[in-house]
Amino acid sequence: MAAAVCLLILTLLPAGAFAESVTFDYGMDKSYNNGRLLWDGDKLLLDVYPSEMPDEIIFDLTGHAAVTVTIRLMGDVAFSEMKVQNQSSSYYNYSADLRFASGDGQPHQVQVRKLFGTGADDDHLIVDSGIDMTVNYASLGGSAGVNSYLDLAEDAKLTFEPMQGTSFNFDYVQIGENALLVNHSVLYNDGLPTSITFASASPSAAGRFVIEVNGAAVISNKDSSADLPQWLQDLIKQNGWQFGPHESLQSNAKTILDQNGNIVTSFILYNHAHVAGSTPTGVKEPTCTENGYTGDLVCAECGSVIQAGSTIPKLNHNYQNGVCVNCGAPDPDAPVPVSPPSMGDTTPLALWLSLLALTGACLVFAGIRAKRSPR
Ligand SMILES: [Zn+2]
Ligand SMILES: [Zn+2]
Repeated sequence: MAAAVCLLILTLLPAGAFAESVTFDYGMDKSYNNGRLLWDGDKLLLDVYPSEMPDEIIFDLTGHAAVTVTIRLMGDVAFSEMKVQNQSSSYYNYSADLRFASGDGQPHQVQVRKLFGTGADDDHLIVDSGIDMTVNYASLGGSAGVNSYLDLAEDAKLTFEPMQGTSFNFDYVQIGENALLVNHSVLYNDGLPTSITFASASPSAAGRFVIEVNGAAVISNKDSSADLPQWLQDLIKQNGWQFGPHESLQSNAKTILDQNGNIVTSFILYNHAHVAGSTPTGVKEPTCTENGYTGDLVCAECGSVIQAGSTIPKLNHNYQNGVCVNCGAPDPDAPVPVSPPSMGDTTPLALWLSLLALTGACLVFAGIRAKRSPR
């Protein structure tokens, strides 16, 4: 009823009078903006096209549990605000999975600036194969952090590019084969994923979780690393890092520090601990004309570069007796040989004599031609 009144008001008011909001209620089939909203049992399917979206889209599940809302992208689409709620007056108790999928079998990009009401109470945010999604703000609502799930399917990508002061906040993260999760926000104590699991069982560099921030990657008030989630304990151990305080942080805060005591601002989590190969790859000896390379330390299991090598400066020519002992190049500053050439070096002399003979022959021939030409 309330939704019907809202719709009526929306219809009566002129466009642009206020930020446009569209609500999709449970069980209500409707079309919007060339898109179609269909109910298939407990599954809501909305096809969206890359034309203008309203400022706010609300899916109100009106008390129905275990609902899946699937946004089927028919192109690259940007949403300002999207809310999944389960009571028309409250954002608590969402109990719905929200899935972004391709509607036409093609890969698509989708951006949601503000996403409300997903990832609480065992809910899943699902990014399907071939979808490249960016989220700028994700609110988990009243029951925040209660078993929130993020599932990235094979070849899916999710980038969390935070608005000011917001952070990534999912408890359980599943990363599919070749899927990529990029987080550009600090992981705080309450936003640290409890577990990060990978679909791929064999060591692979394909699926990964990338953290890149300006300051500390992780800030926690836990006492020791033993209180951190297992994946983070493993990461710290594998890299030889420490978990501890830093002068730039508040007194009870700790972060990850590298071997030099510097704050770790970025890391990549794979589905395995890298195993360094016995010999570096891409080693190149320097020459007199080109730089060399010390070689990269590469993981024997997945081929990722664990530690990049460095450039070896090119050598200087080392001339001895008029030639470089490194590369054989002649010394440009060596004294010019005096002429006539010595007897031991007959080649230039022979060449000179040949050229002289040839030139003479040409002159004679030219003279004959000149005489015989009728004038
Ligand atoms: Zn590896
Ligand atoms: Zn040289």
